[in-house]
Amino acid sequence: MENRKVLRLSGNWLRAALSLGLLGSAVASGTAASAQTLVLRGGSVYASPDAAPLPDAVVVVSGGAISAVGSASDVQIPPDARVIDCAGKTVVAGFWNSHVHFTEAVWKSAANGPAAPLTAHMQEMLTRWGFTTVWDLGSNPADALPLRRRVNAGEVLGPNIFLLGSIFPKDGHPAYLPAELKLPEIADPDVSAQLARSYLGMGLDGIKLFTGSFKGEDKPVVNMDVAVAKAAVDVAHAQGKPVFAHPQNKTGVDTVIAAGVDVMAHTAPGPGYTQYTSEQLARFKSQGTALIPTLSLFTTVVLDPGVTAQITAVTVNQLRQFAENGGVVLFGTDIGFTKVYDTTLEYELMHRALSERQVLATLTTNPAQYFKAAKKGRVERGFDGDLVVLDGDPMADVRNLAKVAYTIRAGQIIYQKP
Ligand SMILES: [Zn+2]
Repeated sequence: MENRKVLRLSGNWLRAALSLGLLGSAVASGTAASAQTLVLRGGSVYASPDAAPLPDAVVVVSGGAISAVGSASDVQIPPDARVIDCAGKTVVAGFWNSHVHFTEAVWKSAANGPAAPLTAHMQEMLTRWGFTTVWDLGSNPADALPLRRRVNAGEVLGPNIFLLGSIFPKDGHPAYLPAELKLPEIADPDVSAQLARSYLGMGLDGIKLFTGSFKGEDKPVVNMDVAVAKAAVDVAHAQGKPVFAHPQNKTGVDTVIAAGVDVMAHTAPGPGYTQYTSEQLARFKSQGTALIPTLSLFTTVVLDPGVTAQITAVTVNQLRQFAENGGVVLFGTDIGFTKVYDTTLEYELMHRALSERQVLATLTTNPAQYFKAAKKGRVERGFDGDLVVLDGDPMADVRNLAKVAYTIRAGQIIYQKP
């Protein structure tokens, strides 16, 4: 397939990135680690979701990594360190939000605009909720790639950012996205493979497939051909990159399975589809499929409280089924698409199906293990200095996961409660 044809089909986002000369320029994944040693003193530390809390602990972060964790009596505080008093607070590993979008108007100035408004919005949307790593499930690479570069350079304070390139089915422009947005709607597996290669070539970290697109209440869902999905999956997996998918109904979930997609970006409540089938659960297990529940999202897009309650009952049940089946659950909220940045409701809804420790795992150890980030997800010596200081104990009340006092990435404070 000629490049020319791919570019014509792949729409505004890819074209804009190409015109900026971003294609082929690999984005450095470096981090502006803080030069100053940081010490968190006196808090209660959960080294991992299944660990007992270590009270009155000291965590030392130097050169961007955790250099010591232990009791106050055992750990020496370096004389030149910046010390944060964490008495009465709880320290956990930095959070991952595995479903966000950098699509709001503010990010249009990501390439050249002043840093302060970008940092301010990053705080409002992400870092004040504890996120030190995020997966962007679809945005304009011409905004998102420069944004990531400026965050990694330390100009804009923000999380570690992974980016996906999106592929839609033919006639699959979702009803909830602006009609004027040109999206790559693909019918041909060869074009799908080419587009996946183009995305990965410009420095994106994986692929997002709309295995089903919502076209409106009264219209049938448009599902992606399995061959189109599989062609992109094969390209991504050959390069060791993950594929996420948005399924809209049972067929879209079956396409996830048939094509070998790694991560479902949502639960999939739909008419006549209130639970995953036993066949689907068996395939999730054998293929290692992960799930991002996005339970609170559905309460923001459906405004009739009776209908919302019914949908929530279905999505909570799908999460429960998935978790009891042994599947990997990853925290994610679809923020950027939804404007509800507060994570409290998501924690409350997840807690209907999961324990407090399981919810903490979806934010920390689960994504770190699933995405092979060997130095993330735990508060242990040698791990990245990505930490969240909470005002309350999340094991006592899951909503305390949203009460963030400090967010620290690579030893640098990227959010501090005023
Ligand atoms: Zn999304």
